Amino acid sequence: MNISFIGLGNMGLPMAANLLKAGHDVLGFDLVPAALQAHAKAGGRVAASVAEAVRAADIVITMLPAGKHVAEVVLDGILPNATDTPLLIDSSTIDVETARRVAAAAAKAGLDMLDAPVSGGVGGATAGTLTFMVGGPDAAFARALPVLQAMGRNIVHTGPAGAGQAAKICNNMILGISMLGVSEAFVLADKLGLDRAKLFQVSSTSSGQCWALTSYCPVPGPVPASPANRAYAAGFAAALMLKDLQLSQAAAEAVGAATPLGAHAARLYQAVAEAGESGRDFSVVFPWLSGLSRK
Ligand code: NAD
Repeated sequence: MNISFIGLGNMGLPMAANLLKAGHDVLGFDLVPAALQAHAKAGGRVAASVAEAVRAADIVITMLPAGKHVAEVVLDGILPNATDTPLLIDSSTIDVETARRVAAAAAKAGLDMLDAPVSGGVGGATAGTLTFMVGGPDAAFARALPVLQAMGRNIVHTGPAGAGQAAKICNNMILGISMLGVSEAFVLADKLGLDRAKLFQVSSTSSGQCWALTSYCPVPGPVPASPANRAYAAGFAAALMLKDLQLSQAAAEAVGAATPLGAHAARLYQAVAEAGESGRDFSVVFPWLSGLSRK
């Protein structure tokens, strides 16, 4: 399969490498020369522009920072320059409205487009174990599946255009809120003189159980692989959690959904960023909250 891959950053580069390993021809493009060099080193071919990258592609994958980049690349770069009828797959995490708008523009130009954001981070991208949440038509999903399987393990068709982004921001709103809840419980436990290991022993096997506690515990000790044990090195950076919470709040505002905890979580992660912690793992809310507590 001839695959064009646009956006060879932290996620895109290892995802493209897995497509190469699966035997696909991957023509990559990025604005950053070092990203192109790394892609070439992994065995990929390199294009000089989006226009060049998308000519003669069977599939075009985008992995870009935000909605404005996706709109620009799809509307000004891909649609005017695609010669055949490539399937477009956007794996960036972007707002639902832009995802639907670019998919509609692609459909108008006779091209299928899927929004297929991912969960699993750079580790999952490298290992080829990402979860894909995919929105778009059934036939397009069937066409994309073998390619997505080269980059991920769990691939879920969540509905029509925009449903992939909707699933991603709803899931990450749960995660942001639950990480704050778990962190607050440990802050309170510390103040009450309750041993952290004992709280973990109780809550991990009772009704407080959740992924933020049992797989990603924000205090060092109970879960040896969690970022808390390596000074909160990301992992999933607090900046990305803030981005996803803000996307959830933009969507909630647009459709009138009441998400007061999501709104508060977004404000708290904004404060984490303002405290200069946005580059650390999002579980850094535990030491951040500890620091806010009365001495
Ligand atoms: P990144 O900033 O490392 O990579 C984005 C790349 O896009 C950069 O190399 C940049 O140069 C390139 N780019 C920007 N505009 C371009 C254009 N017009 N043409 C070509 N290339 C262009 O970001 P990332 O960490 O790889 O994340 C990509 C997306 O995946 C984001 O939407 C992010 O929210 C999402 N995501 C990231 C993670 C993670 O852990 N990093 C996890 C899940 C989802």
